[in-house]
Amino acid sequence: MPVFFRFRCRNCDLAAQAMGGEDITSSLDLIHTCYCPKCRDLIDLVIADWNPVTQKTDERHPFDRTCNDCGQSGLPLWKRGRPCPQCGGTIDKTGIAATFD
Ligand SMILES: [Zn+2]
Ligand SMILES: [Zn+2]
Repeated sequence: MPVFFRFRCRNCDLAAQAMGGEDITSSLDLIHTCYCPKCRDLIDLVIADWNPVTQKTDERHPFDRTCNDCGQSGLPLWKRGRPCPQCGGTIDKTGIAATFD
């Protein structure tokens, strides 16, 4: 069950709600938090199909990590513990936003 956290950068205006990592949904999509430089936001996107037999992602169906809001593709991945993708500063986890099944 994915958990969504609130993140906030200590140095810049980046503040977002996202998983801050990866998870596999019940429909076997591998979702991972990405950073959209246009929207200046962290978003969770489907990045691959998950194959439960091989326990690996199915590379035959690559996703292009496209922002739902602005259409920017090839968004970089981001994970909690990594520096701010916007300024390189420290990002704090400030709370839990929500949990979804
Ligand atoms: Zn920052
Ligand atoms: Zn965007």
